[in-house]
Amino acid sequence: MNDLVLHLDNIQKNFGGLKALSDVNLQVEEGTTHAIIGPNGAGKSTLLNVCIGRLKPDAGHVTFDGQELTGRKPHEIAQMGVARVFQTPEIFPEMSLLENVMLPAFSKRDGAFNMNAHKLLSRQSEIRAEAEHILEDVGLQEQITQEAGSLSRGDKRRLELGMCLILRPRLLLLDEPTAGMSRHDTNRTIDLLKKIKSRGMTKVIIEHDMHVVFSLADKVSVLARGQIIAGGTPEEVREDPKVKEAYLGGAH
Ligand code: ADP
Ligand code: MG
Repeated sequence: MNDLVLHLDNIQKNFGGLKALSDVNLQVEEGTTHAIIGPNGAGKSTLLNVCIGRLKPDAGHVTFDGQELTGRKPHEIAQMGVARVFQTPEIFPEMSLLENVMLPAFSKRDGAFNMNAHKLLSRQSEIRAEAEHILEDVGLQEQITQEAGSLSRGDKRRLELGMCLILRPRLLLLDEPTAGMSRHDTNRTIDLLKKIKSRGMTKVIIEHDMHVVFSLADKVSVLARGQIIAGGTPEEVREDPKVKEAYLGGAH
């Protein structure tokens, strides 16, 4: 086994009487793409929010690169090299695409409140060049001066991915990156995620589009009603009767 980048140990999360996650164990190896699949309401987004510190688990531990993440604040976790793309893109609609991609670089390297002007200026051209390169990677090079708010939904999601990439995360968490996309946009996003894979970044991808999972994932874990019910390679998981039942039994 390769080194573990992310390790979830007996995670539990309740919302009132609802057990959103019970005893979830997960191991994500360095450099792999690990998909978490499962029907709607299974607890996938809750799991991701526990990993990035948006939600505090009621029990259990999250370890990243050997360091405890449980109890840390979202910005501390981000500083450690964990980035995420949400189901709803979080972009700055009135700013240009280029500005959107450049902005996270400043807040990461200098901190939101102690950033000073000369540091910002001395790094600006370097960050700009990197942002332009990333916009090319995500296929938005033609629109760099355009306002982000004018983009299509699929393009907004690719822009948000670009905003993550400039942080050069070690671990990238994606919550349904192709949700609401056309087949064409989905395929473009798959190609982009494959390109990132070749750079060795570890990814956890929450997805219920099987086409995406089978195109990308090295390992798959299946979550149903807050529990991991199966895991393995995409082929192993596809043949697992428990998985078929979870998908056929629950709407997704
Ligand atoms: P998924 O992403 O797999 O569709 P979620 O993690 O969003 O599932 O939700 C898991 C369960 O927890 C659902 O029953 C959902 O209604 C519930 N849930 C999620 N977030 C909250 C919350 N903040 N408060 C109360 N219940 C929640
Ligand atoms: Mg979700």
